[in-house]
Amino acid sequence: MAVYSTLNKPEFTKCKYETDCHGCGIYPERPKGCRIYSCQWLIDESIDEKYWPKDAGFIINKNELKLDKNYNVDLARMLINDFANKGITLSVRKMDLISI
Ligand code: SF4
Repeated sequence: MAVYSTLNKPEFTKCKYETDCHGCGIYPERPKGCRIYSCQWLIDESIDEKYWPKDAGFIINKNELKLDKNYNVDLARMLINDFANKGITLSVRKMDLISI
């Protein structure tokens, strides 16, 4: 089994190994970065199910929100408010796409 060293792709672009129905097409050999990465939604049980990245169109990293071009604006606003109520300010990437 050969482990891929890198994906060589820009942020916010679809990975060429992503499949429509079955997730990662090279899962056993995926790069190290994919193996060690977990978004906040996955590791923080206090974050509501509705913010699942595939449905929401954004990914929550620690103190950061990364918006995909097809993100759900209403959910993003709710999430930012939820975090603000906990005293956490999310740094929003691609903020130029929306005004909150
Ligand atoms: S796990 Fe990594 S290699 Fe697999 S689809 Fe996702 S980004 Fe691509």
